[in-house]
Amino acid sequence: MTEYNIKYEILDYDKFYNRLNNICQNPKNKNKVTKHDPIGYTKCGFPIEHYSIGHGPMHIVYMGGAHGNEIISVDYVTQLMQNIAEGNKDFQDFNPSEFTIDFLPCQNPEGFFTTTYALKSIMSSMNEKEIEEFCKKYYSLYREDDQVVLNINKILRIFCEEFDIPSVKEDLITIFWQKSNNKDLTPKYMIAFLLIFFNVDKEKLANFINNKWQDLFPDKKTISHIKKHQEIFSNLTLDCIPLKDDAHRKLKESLTKIYQNGLFPIGTLANFFSNASGINLNDNNEYYFQDLKKKMQTYGEIYAGYRDNNILKTIPGPAGIPTSNLDGRFEYTEENKALLSFLENQDNKNENYAFINCHGTGGMLYVYPVSDNDLSLAHTQGVTRDFKFYINGQIANEYTKKISEVYEEETGKSNSGYKIVGFPNHISGVGDVLRKKYIASFLLELSKMGGNPIAPYGDKTGNYYLTMNANMSAAHQMMQTIKKIAHLYNINYFMYYDDNGKVHYEQRKK
Ligand SMILES: [Zn+2]
Repeated sequence: MTEYNIKYEILDYDKFYNRLNNICQNPKNKNKVTKHDPIGYTKCGFPIEHYSIGHGPMHIVYMGGAHGNEIISVDYVTQLMQNIAEGNKDFQDFNPSEFTIDFLPCQNPEGFFTTTYALKSIMSSMNEKEIEEFCKKYYSLYREDDQVVLNINKILRIFCEEFDIPSVKEDLITIFWQKSNNKDLTPKYMIAFLLIFFNVDKEKLANFINNKWQDLFPDKKTISHIKKHQEIFSNLTLDCIPLKDDAHRKLKESLTKIYQNGLFPIGTLANFFSNASGINLNDNNEYYFQDLKKKMQTYGEIYAGYRDNNILKTIPGPAGIPTSNLDGRFEYTEENKALLSFLENQDNKNENYAFINCHGTGGMLYVYPVSDNDLSLAHTQGVTRDFKFYINGQIANEYTKKISEVYEEETGKSNSGYKIVGFPNHISGVGDVLRKKYIASFLLELSKMGGNPIAPYGDKTGNYYLTMNANMSAAHQMMQTIKKIAHLYNINYFMYYDDNGKVHYEQRKK
């Protein structure tokens, strides 16, 4: 086969399991797929599935679905599994005695099934063309919601400059949205709001706001507080979750608790980041937990960003809290405990050659997080290092180079591939913790067309197939790169700068 076998399909519970079963039993498989015991179970009792292809000493782990709403990540990991199994296109040279590819298709089944059951209840009667149109419409509503927030923020920032209070800019933005997320916005509202906090000339302020509003929202008198990308799913009810088994019953019960007080628009069921306890798996780490507590001391309630800035992040909900009890001690969720022990176990056996944590949108590859401290230590006292930086950088460069090649082939545009992101040096996600901890650990933001869950499906050829094809070729490239540099995984070196600023390296055994 000269092409990858890619199916344009929005998964749900049944389609997910049908796909996985079909991949295991596929008579066209050239490489055997093994189903393992789940790496763990969620609190509701859904298994966190684990499959593998090959039996080689070098393991590469692909994981999807840490955020339940980032459905393209689950779609990608399962289709990658199928294409390696079938030995399609580049994978025809896959050698099962060199590599073991581990697949954790969905780390957060509770969030993923919530999102996809909700989508199914709105989209199940649509044909493929209608699905693409609906996803495209969602994409534009999502962008519109973002643009409103960006424009208002712009007005607030310029206000701070023009009225000579630049130091309060970011605080003002946070507080403005905190107080205004349930209110329809007008120039009159903004003027009144600013006058509460700032002793400025009323007429000058009114002129300023009216002019800026005219510039940025020329055809709008009022901006509704209702988010359009949530409203499109406003007919949802919790009955979209069928009571198939005990895990499903618990899922529905947990979601009922989250939605019973009416604090979240019901449309957010279709864009559910968290697990069913309302914990965001990426935020579920001590660093973010401490950051959030500090922020809460300053601002009280904290909301999600941009188009979702009406979603509280300080109580269990669709965008999620970092740990189950914000007043108590930090605790990892079952999903993260399972992942961390899986990776740690693999690392202890020196089998871990790469981990790719697939997320939904952005078109970015997050690599080893560089901190300024690393560099200054090398200058002042020298540091013993392994080849983490080099290995990590090499894999990332080759990966994104391949992505660019495919994008250029398909679109004719150069420099249209993925960005490599090394920062932040400040760790705030479980993805960051893992990138820092393991030798070749990456967070991959798949679709360049943004707007989880369904915007990536809004342009079948221009975005969806391109994302899938490019990443499959890049996944093959990653194996080639790892083969070339595998001998460096277990070597240390000492690096230091001499008085002239020249860098020296000495090899050391591990
Ligand atoms: Zn994500």
